[in-house]
Amino acid sequence: MRVRRIDLRDSGTSNIDYRSVVPRAEFDVETATHAVQPIIDAVRTRGVEAIGEFSQQFDGVEREDIVVPPEALARALDELDPAVRAGLEESIRRLRATCAAELESDVTTSLGDGATVTHRKVPVDRVGLYVPGGLAPLVSSVVMNVVPAQVAGVRSIALSSPPQKNSDGLPEPTIMAACALLGIDEVYAVGGAQAIAMFAYGAGPCRPVDLVTGPGNIYVAAAKRVLRGVVGIDSEAGPTEIAILADDSADASFVAADLISQAEHDPMAASVLVTDSLALADDVDAELEKQVFATRHTARVQTALTGRQSAIVLVDDVQQGLDVVNAYAAEHLEIHTRDATDVASRVRNAGAIFVGSFAPVSLGDYCAGSNHVLPTAGCACHSSGLSVRAFLRSVHVIDYSRDALAEVADHVVTLAEAEDLPGHGAAVRVRFQ
Ligand code: NAD
Repeated sequence: MRVRRIDLRDSGTSNIDYRSVVPRAEFDVETATHAVQPIIDAVRTRGVEAIGEFSQQFDGVEREDIVVPPEALARALDELDPAVRAGLEESIRRLRATCAAELESDVTTSLGDGATVTHRKVPVDRVGLYVPGGLAPLVSSVVMNVVPAQVAGVRSIALSSPPQKNSDGLPEPTIMAACALLGIDEVYAVGGAQAIAMFAYGAGPCRPVDLVTGPGNIYVAAAKRVLRGVVGIDSEAGPTEIAILADDSADASFVAADLISQAEHDPMAASVLVTDSLALADDVDAELEKQVFATRHTARVQTALTGRQSAIVLVDDVQQGLDVVNAYAAEHLEIHTRDATDVASRVRNAGAIFVGSFAPVSLGDYCAGSNHVLPTAGCACHSSGLSVRAFLRSVHVIDYSRDALAEVADHVVTLAEAEDLPGHGAAVRVRFQ
């Protein structure tokens, strides 16, 4: 098994289109939108009946009721392994701390006597949170979705995760347990694009939501793209990506382990190493050979690492490496270089940045206190990872007295005339006649 190499050394930096250096997987979100459109249409028109058919087709589950009963949630929490519970509690504690610190207050600006503009933060009324459960039961995604929504003050929270054959058609037990631990009682056993459509349009017992958040595979990301506008979305948080920028000071065994850790999410996951050290590249290759065959999900990892979306990119120096990773805009970016803090400060595009050898992505996946729901497929150049801010809208509240309006009335009338909208000016003048 060998990860393909892309050699940019001595190629002259000026004629390189860095955006196309490392391609994404061929089956991309845009292509997947064609696969999910019929699913979305069916859920919109036929609701739970269509959901039942898709659960049978994609999850191999026949279960008429999509609602997860409260007793099942409570039972799952009772039966939760205490060590897993302790891990979840620590994860929740750390994420709550960052969410609370990041919660922004209202800002009021005075623009003269009796003239104020307040930037008010208002939580979204109702949200639908997606928790993946196809290849792995991502219990950590319950925490990553629910905690910021709760800290933001969202009043109505629904959560959905794929039904499982070995869980009587309900979501995976640890996922149900985490819901109970966090006090979430509106839970649905629905996966994939059908879950996103259920949240957007409503279906059976599930009322429509205002915002959908959460990670998922390519079909989930595609459904979010198609339904954006019908419903709000956080970001397209699809198949995982890791990019590592490293120099010869990096430890090859750490680098290889981290590339594998994200490749094990999905055969479509991307693992990219960018380095100016040929020796490190060779050592990482050798480490991958060793570690890939010792890991549990060897086949999935191999498929991801040898896909066109994964690569080792050789560059002239760390500055060129920064050009590559900034253009790639990875979901996760690790920096394993000398002066890692300084190098990290020069990164502009990444979902999350992990600085130095002791901040692996796995830490961020569970217990760093950061959020692991992050934009993929290059969306990190315009979208942000999930945070308490995603669950808040800001509303300007404009409060002017008669005198304060009089101060600026002439300017309003003049600007209205300049736009050939005399009614706008008249609406001000009428107040002073
Ligand atoms: P999932 O819950 O996202 O997807 C499972 C669902 O996919 C199934 O219920 C089914 O409805 C649907 N599906 C499967 N095959 C289909 C097909 N051919 N057509 C239409 N729908 C189909 O679980 P998963 O598959 O394990 O994927 C989890 C994903 O989440 C991984 O890709 C992982 O990398 C990603 N992830 C992303 C982030 C992020 O923030 N970007 C974080 C964690 C995980």
